[in-house]
Amino acid sequence: MLTVEEALAAIVNHVIPGAATATPLADSLHLVLAEDLTTPHDSPPFDKSMMDGFAVASNGFQATANKTLRVLETITAGTVPTEVVAPDTASRIMTGAIIPDGADCVVPIERVIFDEAEPQRVTIADDAVSAERHVLRQGVLAETGQSLIKAGTLLEPQHIAVLAEFGVAQVPTFQRPTVAILATGDELLAIDQPLIPGRIRNSNEPMLISQAIRANARAIPLGVAKDNRDDLRSHITAGLKHNFLLLSGGVSAGTLDLVPSELAAAGVQQVFHKIEIKPGKPLWFGQLKTSDHNCWVFGLPGNPVSSMVCFELFVRTALRKYAGWHSPTPQPTLARLTDSITVKGGRPIYFPCKLILADEGLQATPVAWGGSADLRSTADANGMCLLRPQSQAYAPGDMVPAIRWSAM
Ligand code: AMP
Ligand code: MG
Repeated sequence: MLTVEEALAAIVNHVIPGAATATPLADSLHLVLAEDLTTPHDSPPFDKSMMDGFAVASNGFQATANKTLRVLETITAGTVPTEVVAPDTASRIMTGAIIPDGADCVVPIERVIFDEAEPQRVTIADDAVSAERHVLRQGVLAETGQSLIKAGTLLEPQHIAVLAEFGVAQVPTFQRPTVAILATGDELLAIDQPLIPGRIRNSNEPMLISQAIRANARAIPLGVAKDNRDDLRSHITAGLKHNFLLLSGGVSAGTLDLVPSELAAAGVQQVFHKIEIKPGKPLWFGQLKTSDHNCWVFGLPGNPVSSMVCFELFVRTALRKYAGWHSPTPQPTLARLTDSITVKGGRPIYFPCKLILADEGLQATPVAWGGSADLRSTADANGMCLLRPQSQAYAPGDMVPAIRWSAM
């Protein structure tokens, strides 16, 4: 049986990033940039006013106290000046407009004597004027050909805005993976069905769909496969067309746990089966490799919390690697336990807990959790903390690695 660390390493070794592609800017949030980008033009692209006021030539002001100037025109943002400013003239100008030739200073409207009824003249005090004041020169923020955003950057809203400023309408990114989701089990009912003896509702499908969406993947629901070889086979064939296939259930030691053998029959090579973890021990991982297509396959345990935890640890690592992340494995942060808790058994436990950022730092409160089938109690949790069997009894104040179930 592999340890969690060995299983994560095997996933990172086997999954390869999808080909880089041109993604429309509006669809590129939370994708990884595939190429270094440079600025295609200066920022700002022209000398611009940073204030609403009057554009003047500062050299005309040296000796005088107050000066009344003739107003040439009004330059609004988006228009082009037509007049050259001279020492005895000024142009009214708005924030974001082009500084007219001859001017090198903008005097804010609040600093002048100006009557809208007499717009052809403005009086300006000498101390409001100095060269370059409220003028943002072309290229001072960024020059053409400078580094803009580095390859490997996870695109957040600030990057989207920068790409928009520089006209990058098609962004070179790694791809968003497609993730097919297949629940298995004769006992599964649709969520709108009343319970009947022996049957339960299919909670894993909507859970895995929403986890995939939260992980910035495209979820492809395949419905439910019955626990017979024909039904499993046809569903698996459909799922293998995608970048990832997640199955839930059918990977343990039951008589109807047919998933590993059906995956093998479909040509999927097993990388590992079973890991030292609680919950999630039966996890299965493999890959289908053909000349023109790869599909990585996770056989997730049917028990809902096992599936949930295995997704957050292992599937997300695989999705991040595919999506071009440099560090695709989970990055736990240390949290202070608020309660005592005892570890039973010999496997490390990823225990559902409530993580809160308190004044003293991150705090973890384990929820009242009844094991891999206890989905209900996870509604009180927002993450999990790692409890190691060597430590046995944890006391309040002990520091434990914690992972938040969050979007990034
Ligand atoms: P299995 O691994 O198929 O033996 O399933 C283990 C446990 O998980 C059983 O109690 C199943 O009924 C339950 N289970 C399997 N699939 C689902 C599902 N899609 N939603 C909720 N529970 C499930
Ligand atoms: Mg089953």
